[in-house]
Amino acid sequence: MATGEQQPGVRALENAVFTRGSPGTAQVDRTHRTGAGCDAMTDSWEIINSLAEKLNSLSTVPHEQELLGQALKLAEETGEVAEAAIGALSMNPRNGNSHTWDDVRKEACDVAATALILIARTGADPRDIFESHLHFLQRRSLTGEATE
Ligand SMILES: [Mg+2]
Repeated sequence: MATGEQQPGVRALENAVFTRGSPGTAQVDRTHRTGAGCDAMTDSWEIINSLAEKLNSLSTVPHEQELLGQALKLAEETGEVAEAAIGALSMNPRNGNSHTWDDVRKEACDVAATALILIARTGADPRDIFESHLHFLQRRSLTGEATE
């Protein structure tokens, strides 16, 4: 792969296309996913791990500092969700209707991907951690169980 050329998985992540619409009408164009029999979820976890490995390979600072930077990046992305939601609702008179709900969805995806990459960069398997926590949340929701 030539320098500056993106890995196919990274390109797929960046090329996810959402249609415009109101909060309840999102449709995702999945034409960027290629390959017969492609297991999208497996591909997604492979992309997350690949992005984490790429970021780790580019690191020039101590690992703990990289993790702090990744956590700060997550905070930045959550701010972008808030900015997009404010823009979609025209809540800032200076900017008006500056964003769409598709922008909000894309920024929420940035948050999710950044959080999973953070988990991967800690050395854990993001799929194991996420799915385990999701099941915990389900149990807590169904039973009122407050402890893990
Ligand atoms: Mg973003």
